[in-house]
Amino acid sequence: MSAQNIEKHEFKAEIKQLLDIVIHSLYTEKEIFVRELISNASDALEKLRHLKITESEIQDDSLELEINISTDEEAGTLTIQDYGIGLTRDELVENLGTIAHSGSKQFLEALKSGGEKNADLIGQFGVGFYSAFMVAKEVKVYTQSWRKDTPSHCWTSDGVGAYEIEETETQKRGAKIVIELADDFKQYAKADTIKEIVKRYSSFVQFPIKLNDEKINTVDALWLRSKNEIKDEEYTEFYKFQANAHDEPHYRLHFSADAPLDIKALLFTPKTNTERFGYGRIDPGVALHCRKVLIDAKPEGLLPEWLRYVKGVIDSADLPLNISRETMQDNGLTQKISRVITKRYLKFLGEEAKKRPEQYAEFFKNFGVFLKEGVATDFTYRDDIAKLLYFESSVTEKGKTTSLADYVSRMKEEQKEIYYILGQNRESIESGPYLEGLKSRGLEVLFLYEPIDEYVMSNLNQFEEKTLVSADQGDLKLDDAPTPKGEALSEDDAKSLCEWLKTSIGDRVKEVKVSTRLVDSPVMALSPDAMSSQMRRMMKQMGQDSPMPVEVLFEINPRHELIKNLNTQRASNEDLAKLIAQQTFDNAMVAAGLLEDPKEMITRMYEILEQAATK
Ligand code: ADP
Repeated sequence: MSAQNIEKHEFKAEIKQLLDIVIHSLYTEKEIFVRELISNASDALEKLRHLKITESEIQDDSLELEINISTDEEAGTLTIQDYGIGLTRDELVENLGTIAHSGSKQFLEALKSGGEKNADLIGQFGVGFYSAFMVAKEVKVYTQSWRKDTPSHCWTSDGVGAYEIEETETQKRGAKIVIELADDFKQYAKADTIKEIVKRYSSFVQFPIKLNDEKINTVDALWLRSKNEIKDEEYTEFYKFQANAHDEPHYRLHFSADAPLDIKALLFTPKTNTERFGYGRIDPGVALHCRKVLIDAKPEGLLPEWLRYVKGVIDSADLPLNISRETMQDNGLTQKISRVITKRYLKFLGEEAKKRPEQYAEFFKNFGVFLKEGVATDFTYRDDIAKLLYFESSVTEKGKTTSLADYVSRMKEEQKEIYYILGQNRESIESGPYLEGLKSRGLEVLFLYEPIDEYVMSNLNQFEEKTLVSADQGDLKLDDAPTPKGEALSEDDAKSLCEWLKTSIGDRVKEVKVSTRLVDSPVMALSPDAMSSQMRRMMKQMGQDSPMPVEVLFEINPRHELIKNLNTQRASNEDLAKLIAQQTFDNAMVAAGLLEDPKEMITRMYEILEQAATK
């Protein structure tokens, strides 16, 4: 080939950055590059298998779908070849010269958000092809695309800043990656070393892998075997392979159904929720197979969105083999499969919650947010998922939780509603004014700590025909409480104090009235309805001002010393009494999470302190 045929390209800056990290600091286990290249080869073969269904014109159509590895100790090279879809010139530039694919992109984003501190999590991102440069002096990719009448190419790079592409004589379809090993890594040119690595990382690849012409893997569909023949270690190995994980799964569910559909499924729930670490949205992780043949490794829309954290395999013999990814979503069969699997998985979680509550609590801490998403967005499974939600409550110990069903079982006969309070934490709810009215009537209250919880509750609206009600709602209907201790203001005094307070506080308050709920606190602020306070909190979370004017009901406790003293003081020193009235109102607004701007409150506080100090 003449030198004119060689094109020289610079890597994009992002690739340079990635290469730099991969080569210098990322993995202590360099050997994972073998897994990465085999997994690319397997993907390329998988894609070819799909093309065979729809395309009649395929280059070298008779080639076996297999992976060939060869080692050459003398030359110090390792070669991994597949007869997959291969790459055209443009695809070489696009796929090996820029970060166009999801894995590496997410990886870089994770690094930017400070993820490097957690090496374990980073390991969950395959950086794929570029990992070869950890051990290589030079990498060559010889390739021929599956498209007929396209030229073959050779892509070459030392992984520093540039790569070259050269047109070559026609080669076999697919990609052949030749790694010239750096001096320190010559062990990867040894057949025994490679054999061991393949066994460790790639034993579940669904294509034959040959090493120096000898087949070294058994294509095994673990999920089709019967449960009692499978060892725990085999499951774990499969999970690591399938989910690209480094640890054991938190839960494993292996089951089969014959009717109405023939389904085998092996589902894993991971230990960590990577979305919580800011690693971006998880892709669907349950692959769909038909009699061992992979139909889609990440089927969008097969399982509900909120189950995207689940990993594993579904295999149904009832699926037509030629089903394409596009038609999958409209296929009635896949919807049925989805329903069977989802129901079964939810049932499994319910059983686990009862059998092993502590393990379930750990699961819920990590993945509860997905269940909540399900309740809020998926009407089909709302009631089933709601049974799996757990919260702390006024009757649980700190750190212990209760299900809604257990709450209902403890409800008093005449109680019609399920109460909840949203707060920062247990302490702030227990010291706030909203709990006491319910507690004094012996009513249990759920403690919600995350803003999404409130959204979930209002979406759920009912559980076992009991309405879910927020305790900071103004229109709570409560039975009469046992009369609290202490002398109250007379009804006339209280009424006139309320009117005076309304005038003193001004427009910020809609109505002031005597409370039937307060026991120990002097006052509380309430929203006229649950919706408006929830909306406001959500907007605030999103960093926006609420478009609605704040409508606040202000309730006073006529037995509280502060209220009684205030009533006397407005006759003797009305100016100071007014300041105190406004301050009390602001305190209540803080407790309700409704105070927008504390500036005025602080200035006023100083005025009050000044007057108190001169006395
Ligand atoms: P990823 O596999 O995460 O997409 P890689 O860096 O490993 O990232 O590969 C980048 C892209 O290069 C792949 O998405 C694929 O399009 C292409 N590619 C890599 N290896 C092969 C191969 N053996 N055959 C065909 N295409 C390949």
